[in-house]
Amino acid sequence: MSELRITGISVDLVRWPLKMKRRHGVGDIEGSMPGVIVKISTNAGIVGWGEASPWSVFTGTAEANASAIHLYMRPLVVGADPLKVSTLMRQIEKTIVGHTEGKAAVEMALLDIVGKHLGLPVAQLLGGYYRSEVPLSVSIANPDFEEDCNLAKALVADGVNIFKVKTGFSTHKEDLRRLEWLRANLPATVDLRVDYNQGLDPWNAIRHLKDVEAFRPTFIEQPVKREQRAAMAAITKAIDTPIMADESVFTPAEAIDMVRGEIADLVSIKIMKSGGIARAREIAAIAEAAGITAYGGTMFEGGLAIAAGLHMVAATPNISLGAEFYTSTFVMEVEVLKTPIVIDNGSTRVPTGAGLGVEVDEDNIRRISTAHFE
Ligand SMILES: [Mg+2]
Repeated sequence: MSELRITGISVDLVRWPLKMKRRHGVGDIEGSMPGVIVKISTNAGIVGWGEASPWSVFTGTAEANASAIHLYMRPLVVGADPLKVSTLMRQIEKTIVGHTEGKAAVEMALLDIVGKHLGLPVAQLLGGYYRSEVPLSVSIANPDFEEDCNLAKALVADGVNIFKVKTGFSTHKEDLRRLEWLRANLPATVDLRVDYNQGLDPWNAIRHLKDVEAFRPTFIEQPVKREQRAAMAAITKAIDTPIMADESVFTPAEAIDMVRGEIADLVSIKIMKSGGIARAREIAAIAEAAGITAYGGTMFEGGLAIAAGLHMVAATPNISLGAEFYTSTFVMEVEVLKTPIVIDNGSTRVPTGAGLGVEVDEDNIRRISTAHFE
């Protein structure tokens, strides 16, 4: 029996300053983005770190998640054995609905402790490194398209080969113009993908997507609203390019619906949607059994959430379409890791140290903290 005990959880509501504007089908980001950082302490001196990366138009708010962790999850976890991750997560699930980002933060902090205690990286706890690096997909989402074009050109020179173009936030004509420019100015070997973030209306979605197919995207993500599942199914049937579900699949139950309803060919898996790595891997398993390949999505994530995502993708074979693990490097102005995520020749490298395999810069957390609870 382990004598290890959790002695406390501190929660910081943070505001990440951003280097660039982002525009997506459902919402714009400018200036800064709220987030939550969690620190779980133990009687052995081992500390686990976690991060919640909510987006109010997508999953929820940082304020609600910070309160959910502080008021509802902390009392269940303090005094408990941190090695009992599934037991603790089940108790949390029974105590509070929703708040998937807060649950993901607590679960990754617990896994960080377990890994550090056993001297193993989280990827090893999940079954081992099926891959040690993950191809990077960078999103073209800046309302200043010229700025994005310059970024894309510089990244191609650095070895990045996957770009996801955010569409559906202005006009169809403008989307086609942006795609045309990218195809004409980036090497022909670049893997272009398109993400509508629910930005199309079902009545003319198929016509618009047929135009977009001319630019040979590898896939088209979430063309219509998350609950418009019949439209998703009709589009998947009508369009040759594979359709990816993102907002339509948050939970394993929704993944089963995706398979039954044939609403997509591919799925985007994010620990912030599912409520942590274990549930994200349930979705990956359902997809795998149905022959659906997966992609590693993110929200606007700092280095801790990205490290957790990297360990998950490393250990989950069918999340094989790359991942967008770039926000802590390219979008956030402040880095909370002393050991930033390594991007090398178009891939993110999976950390190899114990736990999440990253070291945290607490001074930088204090710099972006707007409220601290413990
Ligand atoms: Mg998406």
